[in-house]
Amino acid sequence: MKTGVMGIAFDNITMDGALARARELLAGGRASYVVTPNAEIAYEAMHDEALRALLNAADMVLPDGAGVVLASKILRKPLQQKVAGVDFAAGLLRELSETGGRLYLLGSKPGVAEQAAQKMLEQNPGLVICGMADGYFKDEAAVVQKINEAAPDVLFVCLGAPKQELFMQAHQAELRVRLMVGLGGTLDAFAGTVRRAPKWMIRLNLEWLYRLIKEPRRLGRMMRLPKYILAVVAERIRGKKKWEN
Ligand code: UDP
Repeated sequence: MKTGVMGIAFDNITMDGALARARELLAGGRASYVVTPNAEIAYEAMHDEALRALLNAADMVLPDGAGVVLASKILRKPLQQKVAGVDFAAGLLRELSETGGRLYLLGSKPGVAEQAAQKMLEQNPGLVICGMADGYFKDEAAVVQKINEAAPDVLFVCLGAPKQELFMQAHQAELRVRLMVGLGGTLDAFAGTVRRAPKWMIRLNLEWLYRLIKEPRRLGRMMRLPKYILAVVAERIRGKKKWEN
């Protein structure tokens, strides 16, 4: 079931439901793609019709983040839960290691995918990682060819938004994969190159502040979250709805 939140048709689904749907998509005959928009991207999409179309054309749209779930509650059409991209990825890894499916890792800085792969294999010994490439390439056609030669079932596309969504849609027809997932900084998270905040900060819900101190360039982007919530509250208060779904 889809639930529209400020113009994005999210799948109103649990993590188990999302993994079950992923199994169906994996069994299908074409290259499906899954997106995991958070509040920052959802805010971008409010002002960018092309991005909105790109997200809504995905086979599955997962709410990555508490901001989107909060928005859905404010609008009185609650999403069941946050389905974070990184957790969904971890679930898919378990799935693939049981079924013997092949995984390709695309994105992040040179060397990060290798480190992420090592961690993924430690956690899922049966996993087959059939190839990887960093996300700073010029020649997209060459990357597509390299992926096809490795013949993966699943492709993690970790180029940041909206680059990863554009890549998945642009090459959907040529890529001989079954399932692609746009996963932002997930490879950094697996590799441990972007460290998580200390426990006390996580406990106080201050992880965002830790990231901001570590990477002050994120300030502009982070300001989209309060702007998004403000727009959501305005939408609820307004009698005439701007977003039908
Ligand atoms: N990235 C990439 N190619 C690019 C730009 C970004 O592979 O041209 C990677 C970057 O190294 C990081 C990931 O995309 O691993 C996500 O980047 P960022 O944290 O900036 O974006 P977000 O996930 O927050 O949208």
